[in-house]
Order: sequence, then C-alpha cells, then structure tokens
Amino acid sequence: MKKYIFVTGGVCSSLGKGIAATSIGCLLEARDLNIRMVKIDPYINVDAGTMSPYQHGEVYVTDDGAETDLDLGNYARFTSSPITKASSITTGQVYQEVIRKEREGHYLGRTVQVIPHITDEIKRRIVRVGEDPEVDVIIIEIGGTVGDIESVPYLEAARQFILDFGKSNVLFVHLTLIPEVGGGELKTKPTQHSVKELHEIGIQPDLLLCRTPRMLDDDMRRKISLFTNVEEKAVISAYDVNTTIYEIPLVYHEQKVDGIVIEKLGIPKKKINLARWSSMVGTFQRSKNQVKIGIVGKYIELPDTYKSIYEALFHGGLANEAIVELVKIDSQSLEEAENPEEILDAVDGILVPGGFGKRGINGMVRTVQYARERGKPYFGICLGMHIMVVEYARHVLGYADADSTEFAPESKHPVIALLADQVDVTAFGGTMRLGRGETRLNAGTKIREIYGSDVIFERHRHRYEVSNKYRKELESAGLIIAGTTYDNSLVETIQWKDHPWGLGVQFHPEFTSTPLEPNPLFGSFIRASLDYGK
Ligand code: GLN
Repeated sequence: MKKYIFVTGGVCSSLGKGIAATSIGCLLEARDLNIRMVKIDPYINVDAGTMSPYQHGEVYVTDDGAETDLDLGNYARFTSSPITKASSITTGQVYQEVIRKEREGHYLGRTVQVIPHITDEIKRRIVRVGEDPEVDVIIIEIGGTVGDIESVPYLEAARQFILDFGKSNVLFVHLTLIPEVGGGELKTKPTQHSVKELHEIGIQPDLLLCRTPRMLDDDMRRKISLFTNVEEKAVISAYDVNTTIYEIPLVYHEQKVDGIVIEKLGIPKKKINLARWSSMVGTFQRSKNQVKIGIVGKYIELPDTYKSIYEALFHGGLANEAIVELVKIDSQSLEEAENPEEILDAVDGILVPGGFGKRGINGMVRTVQYARERGKPYFGICLGMHIMVVEYARHVLGYADADSTEFAPESKHPVIALLADQVDVTAFGGTMRLGRGETRLNAGTKIREIYGSDVIFERHRHRYEVSNKYRKELESAGLIIAGTTYDNSLVETIQWKDHPWGLGVQFHPEFTSTPLEPNPLFGSFIRASLDYGK
C-alpha cells in the first residue's frame, strides 16, 4: 500500500512549509524509501510562468518544461524525487481539466460540482504521481494557510484520502508558529486555533512541526498536545537554525521525526543512513575561506527571485569549503552610478542571472565590460549571456547600438534576436523554449573542461538567442562559441578569450545543482573567484 503524507501550514505564511516537507522527504530517503514530492498551489494561474517576481519568487523549471513554484526547487535539492509537470498542481490546472471534460460530455446529465468533481480531479492528480510501483511514500505540500478560502477543496480531498486508503496509510503534518511575545514568552494560542480549523474540516494532525525561536520545553509540549490532541512525542520543535537550511533534516531527526512518521504509517523499520548529508553540513560548518559574489540583477531586493542561483552558489562554496557572501547589486543603480567600479571592486566574482525586460540592462552592460576588461570572474546565465554578446558587439566590434530585439527592436545590430520558432507566438503561458536540452561542448573550451564531458543536458527558459547572422563576426573578433545545440543551430555557451573565467550559458545550470552534487559550473566559478587577485 502506498503511503500519503499531507503537509499543511497554519497561523501565517512563509514559515517554510516547503523546507519542512522536503526535510521529511530527505529523512525518508535516508531510510531507503522511494518517495515522490508534490506541491499544491491553490491559485487560479495554470502555472507560475506568467507571474511577476513581485507576486511570486523564482519560477523553477523542470526537465519536462513545467514552470513551477520555487518549492519544487527545494524538493530537488533535498531529495532525489523526480520533479516533473505532475509534481505541481494548481487550481487553474484542476479546473481547466474538469471544464474540458464537461465540454466533452464526460459528465453528461450531471451537475458538475466542487465535491465530488473537483476533489476527484485533485485526488487523481495526487495518486498519479505515485503510480510507479516502486514508490513507497508521496508527500503532498498544500500551499497557503489553513483557513484560506482557496485551500478548502484541497483539504477536503486530503480528508477523503483516509476514506479511500485507510487511516493507516495517510498522515497529516501541520506546520505552525509558536511566536514569542513580551519578555520572551512563547505563545501556543495561534497553534490551538489553527489546529481547531483543521478539526472543523475533519482532519486531525498526526505531527506538529512548531516553528519557534528555540527548543520547546516538556511543559510547553504537553500543553500543545493537550489542546491539539497530537501525541506529545509528535509535537516537534522546528526551531530556527542559524547555519544553513540543509541542517533542518538533522534537527528533525534529532527529535525522531522520521521514526515517528514510519511508526505511524506502519512502514517496516530500516536503518537510517544520514552520513552523506551530515558530512555535507559538516563541510559547511568547517568552511573557513570567504568569497564575495556580486549578483547584478533587477529584483535583488526580493529574497526569492534568484533562489536557485543563491543555493547553487552556496553549493559551489561547499565544493571549495568556502563561505559565499552574496552581494546583491541593483543593476539599475549601476546605470546611474558615477563610478560603478567602486561597487564592483568590492566583490571577487560577478554573476548576472536570467531576467526579462529592459529595466537595468545598461547597468548590466557596464558590469560586463568591467569584468571583461579587469579579468574578474564573470558568470552570465541566460540574460547574463545575452548581455555578454551585446557588450562585446558594442565595445569590441564597435557597433554602439548593438542590442537584443527584446530591448531595442529597432536596433541596426540585433545581435540577440527571437528564436525562429518564437516569431509568430502571441500567447504568453508556457510558450518559451522550456526544459531539458542537449548541448554539445567544443573541444579545448573551459566549459568542456569543467563538465568533463562533450555532451551535457541542462534546462532552458528563454525566447531570444544569439543571432546566427553575427556568429562569424563575433568569433573573428575573439568571442569563443564554446557549445551549441546538437545541430549547431543555437549558441548555448560562450567564453571570453584571454580571460581567467568569463563564461555565458543560455541554459540554467542552477536548476540541477544540489548540495550533495554541486553543479560543476558553480564549483569552478567559486574556485576562480577565490583565486581572483591572489
Ligand atoms: N529575456 C531573455 C529571453 O527571453 C532571457 C530569459 C532568461 O534569462 N531566462 O530570452
């Protein structure tokens, strides 16, 4: 029998439900169980692809080209659960499917309703993720907070899992907040209320993960247990860790979370092996070298827009036993700065991440010129690679108006232009070049050496590319085309010649980086930044 674990959140948002869900996944994998992770987002958008970074953090892209919530990135970094289109469920998808079936006559004669039609579609989507006979446990994170109007059908569907599969196969984990007020007193009332809301829906949590500034004492746990009907041993202190989020599975394990989960689900006990994970956290704690990386983007004030990049830089740090300090630089401010050098001099390496739209572009061009001329390590990802080409065309080829048609459709030197298959596309949702693609790396290039392979697979999310019309000219002026698609039709990666580390990639290597297997580009970039100026 498959086991289902639902993770809900109470009191307020941003308590780290994704990290909680994936930490449980991490521990179950360490107990040799085969798991799958699913994220439910109760919004009506079909996916996250069309949402602004102000509404939504990073858009995480899967191998099969889904544009999803950033929690799926957390799942991919903490577990080896395959993350695909099916791992992300939104209200938009659920309704789209039910309405499609209704139009096809699937429900002929019946009134189509939230219960059972919407809830059945939700359940079908969850069950489908665990279809593979090898799968033991499916962990489902329900986005939002218990009490939100939008989450009601999902909680109802979750409740019905008990009817469909039996209580012994379904577990409810509730993440809640124990705030500190006044003179440092911890308060349980918000937790009592949020569990009460679950009770009203017919859900009794089996495990409470209490977000708290410090370990809860026994009295406090007893009190929470009494008011919520959750066994005392299953009231867990999910206290704030001040090292790295990757320590959280260890904090849970210390409090026997994995043991309680498998006992409650009746899963035969297997020994846990957390050796690799603990040693990775140990590497971080031991790391002494410091390196400053400047991220020049236009949404740097938001904590989550470049989530996977920040994590991948951290992984690159692990690969070098180094602590990476992120210096977030607003590209627009560099446009106006009299001496952008002063800001950029303070960092050891520079990364320009992906992005859309014109704002701040010239600040990025100034950044790239600085890094190229000073020999400072530079890593351009997607938009960051486009800027490298624009800068090269302006300052080396001498085309002062060189640009991308994304920002200047009228440019006489459009060195970056729409992909051929994008020219007639008018709809926005899911229409970019998306997902996993093959790149052939050319012999003798730095990136070929870094990956140690001629062929690599990374993920894409873009509409514009290096214009093939300018390829020859750029190459003769010294820009190295280091890799292309298998048919040589698209430029996938470029390199500055006579520069210690200047690489641009059309793909997004940050999505495949994990703390146990850092993406090699990030490891190498951090190494070069550590060596800069030595
Ligand atoms: N805006 C650029 C494009 O659509 C770059 C996209 C990105 O950086 N992800 O091609």
